[in-house]
Amino acid sequence: MSLFFRNATILSMDKVHGVTPFSGDLLVEGDRIVAIGANLPVPAGARVIDAGRKLLMPGLVNAHLHSCETFFKGRYHGMPLEVWMLYSYPILMKEPISERLLYLRSLLTAMESLKAGVTTLVDDFFDPPGFDLNRLKLVFDAYDHAGIRANVSHCVIDKHVFDTMPYLRELMPQDLQDEVEGPSITPDEYIAYCQAVFATQHGRAGRLGFMISASAPQRCSTEMMQAGMGMAQAKGVAYHTHVLETKTQAVTGPKFYGRSLIRYMHEIGILTPNTTIAHSIWVSEDDIALMGEAGCSVAHNAISNLKLGSGIAPIRRLLDAGVHVGLGTDGLSSNDTARIFDVMRLAALLHEIATPDTERWMTAAEVLRSATIEGARTAMLGQVTGSLEVGKRADLLMIDLSGYDYMPLNRLDHHLVYCENGSSIRMVIANGEVVVEDGKLLTIDEAEIFAELGELLPAYLAEHAYLENLNARFEPYIREMYRRATVQNIGINRYQGDMPLWPGPDRRAG
Ligand SMILES: [Zn+2]
Repeated sequence: MSLFFRNATILSMDKVHGVTPFSGDLLVEGDRIVAIGANLPVPAGARVIDAGRKLLMPGLVNAHLHSCETFFKGRYHGMPLEVWMLYSYPILMKEPISERLLYLRSLLTAMESLKAGVTTLVDDFFDPPGFDLNRLKLVFDAYDHAGIRANVSHCVIDKHVFDTMPYLRELMPQDLQDEVEGPSITPDEYIAYCQAVFATQHGRAGRLGFMISASAPQRCSTEMMQAGMGMAQAKGVAYHTHVLETKTQAVTGPKFYGRSLIRYMHEIGILTPNTTIAHSIWVSEDDIALMGEAGCSVAHNAISNLKLGSGIAPIRRLLDAGVHVGLGTDGLSSNDTARIFDVMRLAALLHEIATPDTERWMTAAEVLRSATIEGARTAMLGQVTGSLEVGKRADLLMIDLSGYDYMPLNRLDHHLVYCENGSSIRMVIANGEVVVEDGKLLTIDEAEIFAELGELLPAYLAEHAYLENLNARFEPYIREMYRRATVQNIGINRYQGDMPLWPGPDRRAG
């Protein structure tokens, strides 16, 4: 069915208008936007929606998330990444999550994302210990049923966990080390697996895609890091990875490879326009220059980076260098919600403490670009979504401009970034389909899913609490590793936005 929005305020985020709103009608036919303009004729049979005092804007892009964390929202506090991972991604585990809960977990992630205005989700899926096509298919099933656009990976790690962090081998007692088996996938096996996913899931429903993901350069062998890049480039999909998120990781590059992790990636040929780097906090001037030359992307996870005490990414410098920047929640344990509007607000404010130079603060317009068109670019979907343009897929939000957040309306881009939290969303359209209307998800029976989760989750979370206890024995050694790496890192000349966060003299390079 066609959707005809009459007399809307339109924030297209296209090259011509940017964040300057204009009035007009917008017509959706099938999965696409087919017309935008004043006084358009209404096609026969179209559903006409009065969009007076309503805003149409592109659906938001969540450029980085891990659906495997969704049942751990609100569970942890006061842990840096390396300690938090011990519990959210337990080293010692028993059975992987059941297939039904795996499906429901992805579904819940999509449901809350859609209601929060996210129409494109990038799920860096993690499912140790194996690579099972049927289990990954359940993730695609969930996103298919929910109606969201999604890039899904199956994240690979091929190094033993104790070899992915500095100092751990010397700190961890041998009997504890002996309890943990390493992963057993080869680059060839990962490639064969990815080929099978591309053959069966990629392009599904016209809105689901597969992408390559090697967890991080310190968690994978050089051969594994290199393995998927050719395929990502041939398929035109993103190559997703995590780089320099934490203070510990700043030590890791020099210790493991004798150079920064970004320079290492550059030298092994995996810094390309397809590369999307989650975090990019502890990067140097040299790293930023390499990233800019490569034309790669960064997913900026402002809330997760604060929750885990990781640091503040130097977003202004990355933008200056020509790096594409999208916004991510990261998993819903390190962020606790799927709301990109929250990330937008924080991203807009956070960098104001990084420099006293107000010219270098993030503008609302830049934040909106990151949440829409540039976010789409980080997912290699810039030609598909992220702006309201004729010919593009119809991923859009209709926002009510008559509520508190817009009374009075001064400057729309500011209201969307500084005032809005998603509560003014009246309609969400993904790939031409109305998926949320007046606060209700139309694709899924929310009450039914909540009832089933209510039945199944207590036993699952009790089992997880058992795993937490089992894994707690490793914590003192990981905390000591973190302390050592962090202390050592204070002496390393690294960027922290434009201002050193550690006490002492300005440590900017040069
Ligand atoms: Zn991540």
